[in-house]
Amino acid sequence: MTIRFCLGLLLCGLSALNSFAQTPPKAASATKAAASVAYVVGHRNPDLDSIASAIGLADLMTRRGVPCVPAAQGKVTPDTAFALAKFGLPVPEIITDATDRKLLLTDHSDTLQSLDNLAKGEILAIVDHHKLGDVTTRSPLEMWVWPVGSTCTVVAGMYDFYGVGIPKGVAGTMLCALLSDTLLFKSSTTTPTDHRTAEKLARIEGIRDIQALGMEVFRVKANLAGTPARELLLRDYKDFTMGGKKVGIGQIEVMGLSTLDPYKAGLRAEMNLLKAEKGLSALFLMLTDILTEGTELLLVLDDGALVEKAFGRKPQGDRLWLPGVMSRKKDVVPSLEKAFAR
Ligand code: MG
Ligand code: MG
Ligand code: MG
Repeated sequence: MTIRFCLGLLLCGLSALNSFAQTPPKAASATKAAASVAYVVGHRNPDLDSIASAIGLADLMTRRGVPCVPAAQGKVTPDTAFALAKFGLPVPEIITDATDRKLLLTDHSDTLQSLDNLAKGEILAIVDHHKLGDVTTRSPLEMWVWPVGSTCTVVAGMYDFYGVGIPKGVAGTMLCALLSDTLLFKSSTTTPTDHRTAEKLARIEGIRDIQALGMEVFRVKANLAGTPARELLLRDYKDFTMGGKKVGIGQIEVMGLSTLDPYKAGLRAEMNLLKAEKGLSALFLMLTDILTEGTELLLVLDDGALVEKAFGRKPQGDRLWLPGVMSRKKDVVPSLEKAFAR
């Protein structure tokens, strides 16, 4: 961990202690102490971008005088654990409830993907790169939503805007997230800003070979060995409401689709179970291959005609090959939203 980042966390901790000390003993409760610090948190089933953007934004805001801690809505994924260990950062604490908390949301703005009791918290900021969701606030907020490849790209832009330097360690972790979210710049969500940001983060961290770092991240991300099918299905899973219907979309990114062959039957069984458990109208699982740059879409749904409406091609049974499709937010969600709205 760098000195500046440690200092940020220390200041944040001191400020929390300070406001705790100023509270009369009778009123001193855990909730009051928690309320003085703001939590920066990404979406449910957190990916590397959710975690790294929360870490970066918490550091930036703390150094701007708003004491923040990064948090996560659940256990981190293997690629996240890898990046945090590589750059010496701690795994953020897990929070699942917004009640009485000050919050900054990263990498999402949908209530379905956010904390429980979101309306009982106070949202200070939203920093994201998805379509605008349905989160609303009572007070004015800071909002940065850019159509770029990763939320970390937006956070890097905020550091620039406020004239604050990105600490080493944080920069490396954010770079890993940028590479993970853009699928090594291959996703349709990738912009020139992402390339420029990656080069800047690499310069700060002293990384010469960005592609090599990206391959390291993907070797960890694409290694599914021994992971139960249910965990694979839920690792990068999101709930949506489309045309009033509940829709779930998961994604697994691999290097070579054949890696998934041993898992397909198990995944299919878990998809059927999950659809029934959650009362979904449709459940999709994107098997995205970074090598051939396309997605095999596995589907379980009530209205089979929807898929042809959405993607203009007939599924082969319970699957559909979508060449060039790699992004859930840009290539899949908008087409499905349109089809469900009709
Ligand atoms: Mg994400
Ligand atoms: Mg993201
Ligand atoms: Mg993703």
